[in-house]
Amino acid sequence: MRKTIIIGTGPAGLTAAIYLARANLNPLVIEGPEPGGQLTTTTEVENFPGFPEGIMGPELMANMRKQAERFGAEFRTGWVNKVDTSKRPFKLEVEGQGELEAETLIISTGASAKYLGIPGERDNVGRGVSTCATCDGFFFRNKKIIVVGGGDSAMEEAHFLTKFASEVVLVNRRSELRASKIMQDRARNNPKISWNLNRTPLEVVSGPLGVTGLKVRNNETGIEEVIETNGLFVAIGHTPNTKFLEDQLDTDETGYLLVNPGTTETNVPGIFACGDVQDNKYRQAISAAGTGCMAALDCERFLEEAESAVHA
Ligand code: NDP
Repeated sequence: MRKTIIIGTGPAGLTAAIYLARANLNPLVIEGPEPGGQLTTTTEVENFPGFPEGIMGPELMANMRKQAERFGAEFRTGWVNKVDTSKRPFKLEVEGQGELEAETLIISTGASAKYLGIPGERDNVGRGVSTCATCDGFFFRNKKIIVVGGGDSAMEEAHFLTKFASEVVLVNRRSELRASKIMQDRARNNPKISWNLNRTPLEVVSGPLGVTGLKVRNNETGIEEVIETNGLFVAIGHTPNTKFLEDQLDTDETGYLLVNPGTTETNVPGIFACGDVQDNKYRQAISAAGTGCMAALDCERFLEEAESAVHA
């Protein structure tokens, strides 16, 4: 039986592991199918404080993992199939590891960006296709960029990308936008944004140097055309990775875990959530790491209080 198990190894989970390992709580960290999380799919990270020349995403995550191991965090790989949160100790079924038990859990399973699922898209991630304007916008200085989506994320990403791009083309499959009026107005009033609505993306076109265009179908005329671009930002939403919890913890209407404001406490005492699985607003490596630290401190305090209750 473990004092604590951390599920997920993005910046949130690994920061929690560093703190809990340094507190001699020997955390067990479960690595899923995408160890290191979303940062391992990006190239250079230029906005993580402490790296004035930038650092490659996979290297940053490997460093965090090493730092956690140095203080005694133990790592195991496996897909968490099931968690029983009904009583402590909590029970976990982990593929290849059998049943594990822990007094506390830290959930840091992140969120996955949704992709369009069209030919050429996945092959060109890091070669022009991105799901994160804050991470990759800088690489498209003075270039034309396409943003796909019609929600608040797409409006925000498009607006942000006009800081770098010469032109941003917003492509949405319908003529109506799902985004809030204020976000739409802001995008519409931006002279660098042009609109290609009612277009369904069909294929990402690329050459030896990466993306060269997006093939779309005009839903009014049925005509297919290629919009030239070097950068394609897919902003059609994120999915928090909470399936394994089977609705046992409270979430908001879009599936993100709810925490007590200003803490990482979920509605089940002893279970904490940090990183993107509970954050659909900031979604940054540094903010995830910050909440990872909070989760470790919340968890440590919880264990101390539980222990003193036993001895009282
Ligand atoms: P949304 O679900 O709101 O919008 C997704 C958009 O992508 C829709 O336009 C949808 O089209 C389109 N889309 C989905 N799947 C596909 C597909 N396969 N092919 C083409 N287009 C597709 O997601 P967001 O990430 O924009 O927003 C999520 C939540 O986060 C919202 O509540 C939003 O308000 C909030 N948010 C708030 C922000 C802020 O206030 N600053 C910033 C960002 C997000 P269709 O409409 O046809 O379904």
